[in-house]
Amino acid sequence: MKQPREVFRMVVVMAPEATQEDIDAVVGRVHAAGGKAFVSRGVTRTIVGLVGDVGEFDALNLGRHSGVADVVRISDSHKLVSREHHPARSVVRVGGVPIGPGTLTVIAGPCAVETPEQTLAAAMMAKAAGASLLRGGAFKPRTSPYAYQGLGEEGLRILADVRAEAGMPIVTEVIDPSSVELVARYADMLQVGTRNMQNFALLQAVGSTGKPVLLKRGFGATIDEWLMAAEYIAQRGNLDIVLCERGIRTFETATRNTLDISAVPVVQRRSHLPVIVDPSHSGGRRELVVPLTRAALAVGADGVMIDVHPEPAAALCDGAQALVDADLDEIASIVTILSPLMGRTLTQPVPHGGLNPVG
Ligand code: PEP
Ligand code: MN
Repeated sequence: MKQPREVFRMVVVMAPEATQEDIDAVVGRVHAAGGKAFVSRGVTRTIVGLVGDVGEFDALNLGRHSGVADVVRISDSHKLVSREHHPARSVVRVGGVPIGPGTLTVIAGPCAVETPEQTLAAAMMAKAAGASLLRGGAFKPRTSPYAYQGLGEEGLRILADVRAEAGMPIVTEVIDPSSVELVARYADMLQVGTRNMQNFALLQAVGSTGKPVLLKRGFGATIDEWLMAAEYIAQRGNLDIVLCERGIRTFETATRNTLDISAVPVVQRRSHLPVIVDPSHSGGRRELVVPLTRAALAVGADGVMIDVHPEPAAALCDGAQALVDADLDEIASIVTILSPLMGRTLTQPVPHGGLNPVG
């Protein structure tokens, strides 16, 4: 094969039974689209490396072409998080709790930290649902400036107290670069929310802390954009990143967001980072959380993140999607029954001060 000086943007893997006509046709179509094609004949199959505009190549739909087995985009734009450079899927540890292949990790808690009592009650609910990590926002990125913005540092102190009492490491959101240092002093894992997925200064700042990061998918972001956002964090030397699919905006209004369930296997194939699902922010309604949790586990998610609240009717944020006591058993039995079926061990809460026995 003639070595191109340019970088391959895409590779077409021909099927072993592909004919010369199939190969010529692929090359012809790439040329017609303004690209260059470099044919490499292996012992059992032929690979065609493409140089040029990936968007143009996508439009060719080469995957459906006769004799084509696979079309692989070369993701130089996110090589650190890509499986091409790191084939084994990663496990990320949060205060001793593993998230990744082989385990199933439940993160649960209130959308927002409101009071010490509410946060502790929610932590107990989270445990009853099978959670080993506690979530809760002290800094809330709200669409309306009039909506509840969170308790700030007081909320972080409440979370730290509840962590000590419940023995659960905490996941909490950071919304701007200037508060990263403060939030990192309290949190076991820093959450970057959907509205901030492309806040590049924030991504770089959380990448510099060395704390694990939960990166939610932007509600209007493609999977490529999501992985490139993760790459911003990785580029700062922090590969402890967990991706969270939380629903995207579509024309559908019956749910708060459309849970893009296929994103889970797609991303797990392209990136070594663990991928979890947030059925609460995608469904947006309590009755959808249990079925979407089942779907997340069945599709192979490495975990779920679920909103719970001791009194949803009085919640200052996202009460409609919060699970109540009556739902906890159901979540616990789903995760207990489905984990072994999916080849996973349900992660247990960390015993006080100790390391998690799982993973
Ligand atoms: C949250 O988890 O509380 C949150 C704000 O989520 P998202 O960024 O997905 O809307
Ligand atoms: Mn919320």
